Amino acid sequence: MKKSSLKYLASLKVKTGKKINLLKDFDTDNKQKKIDKKEAELMMAAGIENLAKMQDKLYAHDEYSVLIVFQAMDAAGKDGSIKHVMSNFNPQGVKVASFKVPNSTELDHDYFWRHYKELPARGEIGIFNRSHYENVLVTRVHPEYILKENLPTINSLKDINTKFWKSRYDQINRFEKNLSENGTIIIKIFLYVSKEEQKKRFIERIDNPEKNWKFSVTDVAERLHWDDYMKAYEEMLAATSTKDAPWYVVPADDKWFSRLCVTGIITQHFEKMKFHYPKVSEAQKAKLQEVKAALINEK
Ligand code: ATP
Ligand code: MG
Repeated sequence: MKKSSLKYLASLKVKTGKKINLLKDFDTDNKQKKIDKKEAELMMAAGIENLAKMQDKLYAHDEYSVLIVFQAMDAAGKDGSIKHVMSNFNPQGVKVASFKVPNSTELDHDYFWRHYKELPARGEIGIFNRSHYENVLVTRVHPEYILKENLPTINSLKDINTKFWKSRYDQINRFEKNLSENGTIIIKIFLYVSKEEQKKRFIERIDNPEKNWKFSVTDVAERLHWDDYMKAYEEMLAATSTKDAPWYVVPADDKWFSRLCVTGIITQHFEKMKFHYPKVSEAQKAKLQEVKAALINEK
């Protein structure tokens, strides 16, 4: 990857423990205009082909798994990004899990339970379309949802205080540290769309009959809480972007640009790991030759 691309992708990474201000510190669009759509499409095609090759090695290597977490406001393009990035993957080695409002069985367990069941196995890539982070995002904006979890010592909204959220961030960091120490590479992506662009996309979903199915009235209701969501994201990103499981804030107003960034971020993590096909020993090579000779001489 080009040095300038690496530098740009590094600028999207959230620094561990540093307080952030989304509006000031990150862009929602491709402001620098260093790349145009045509060039991006070529890079994207090469990027996803390269990712597919690396997936093959990850699978053969069979030591690590990769977990890619996507979080975003509605209509930021999670589904499209996932579709594009995995378009060249071998379906056998990848699985996508989408997390919706938890049902009663899920609420009867700790909030990691349903996510744990969807984690990728060694050699696999797992994609979370929404994730355990909803438990410090949507629930932060609507703390009454926490009461449904029936947690010990949490009896009323008064108990859901700063200390409660701090302990949730700690739990998430511990959960991810455990995974990382046991061979899961974690990449977390926040598709950062502007409020203006979200409005445009909602209107498009209403105007275009083929997109009507994507429109949901509740999404508009959530939009009213935009500022609260941004605050919840800022706090969460600062508290949970770690060395082993970093967050990236990807500008999402131009879909083609955000997809290219996502492909670049994943590629970069793969390249760092230097996955390789299992090495064949001299004895195994000799055995292969022996079997080959036997096949050739078969009567
Ligand atoms: P799309 O709208 O593109 O189909 P989506 O991810 O928005 O994708 P929806 O079914 O519209 O899917 O929404 C899922 C909803 O579930 C979101 O509003 C999200 O906040 C909510 N949700 C997910 N996890 C939790 C959770 N742990 N507690 C409460 N709500 C949750
Ligand atoms: Mg939705």
